[in-house]
Amino acid sequence: MSSNHNIVSVSGGKDSTATLLVAIALEAPNLQAVFADTGNEHEQTYEYLDYLQQVTGVPIRRVKADFSRQIAGKRRFIETKWREQGIPESTVLAALEVLQPTGNPFLDLCIWKGRFPSRKAQFCTMELKRDPMLEQVVIPLLDSGNMIMSWQGVRADESINRRHLPECDEVGGGLFNYRPILKWDVPAVFEAHRYMGVKPNPLYSQGMGRVGCMPCINCRKDELREISMRFPDVIDRIDRWERVVQQASKYGAATFFAGSNAKHPSGSIKGLPAIEVMEIASIRKAVEWSKTARGGIQYDLLSAAQDASACSSAYGLCDSEWQPVNMIESAA
Ligand code: SF4
Repeated sequence: MSSNHNIVSVSGGKDSTATLLVAIALEAPNLQAVFADTGNEHEQTYEYLDYLQQVTGVPIRRVKADFSRQIAGKRRFIETKWREQGIPESTVLAALEVLQPTGNPFLDLCIWKGRFPSRKAQFCTMELKRDPMLEQVVIPLLDSGNMIMSWQGVRADESINRRHLPECDEVGGGLFNYRPILKWDVPAVFEAHRYMGVKPNPLYSQGMGRVGCMPCINCRKDELREISMRFPDVIDRIDRWERVVQQASKYGAATFFAGSNAKHPSGSIKGLPAIEVMEIASIRKAVEWSKTARGGIQYDLLSAAQDASACSSAYGLCDSEWQPVNMIESAA
């Protein structure tokens, strides 16, 4: 029998948690919380989701993207097309060696693409968050004739894109968006936690400006410094991932932060030999840069003043309380 469903996308961040708390306070019927697990979350976020489920009594469904099919397709492509294109056999063999699903959605996505996402090619939000939610939760419910109210924890003061969103709109096919905290400021979000007796994700009290991927490809300089000091294992993991994705790359280079946009004093890293790219733009170099003050050689934030909305869609899929950055190495 068809019915109305209220679905809250939770990330473990404060805004989506506050949205869930509003839905609980309003006694939304058929309430379901859904978490799209990117595989690049901090352990404390997984623990927080367990806590949130237990303290609210609302089950949190976990969904995950699976790129096994795409990786198998990429293997076939490499075996034929790369060889036809004259890509060195050592590069072909290196890529084939790592083109195996690991079960970690973030890493598998990057292995499939042969690169990490970047601000200009931010495929992570859609591939890791939007699509699994749609395919595994939203579409099956709609196909069964249900109506869905999708509760989104976005706030107007987060970005220009979000400033002009309506509080409620109809997508079509029985799907509606509802943004109950659109006009809220940050203190109101934390007040909702206090009022409902729910603790915020502890990562906020550990120097993190946002909760979601750790790190996010758009993380702030100061946040990267905090991550490296408090959670060095996270940097070690990204370092390992860089080596794997580098191997899957046709160009032999893949860095977590720089994407294809990073530059250094002589221009874009795009045309540089792979070894040089890895030397100047790896996660380890980004961490070094994050610890620099003004003066001397330093990296700078290319887009600190740009619209913060580029990270996440307007649907609140990524908690985006940050200023997006790309790394540019420049002489001070
Ligand atoms: S934009 Fe950041 S938080 Fe969102 S999926 Fe990409 S890396 Fe993760």
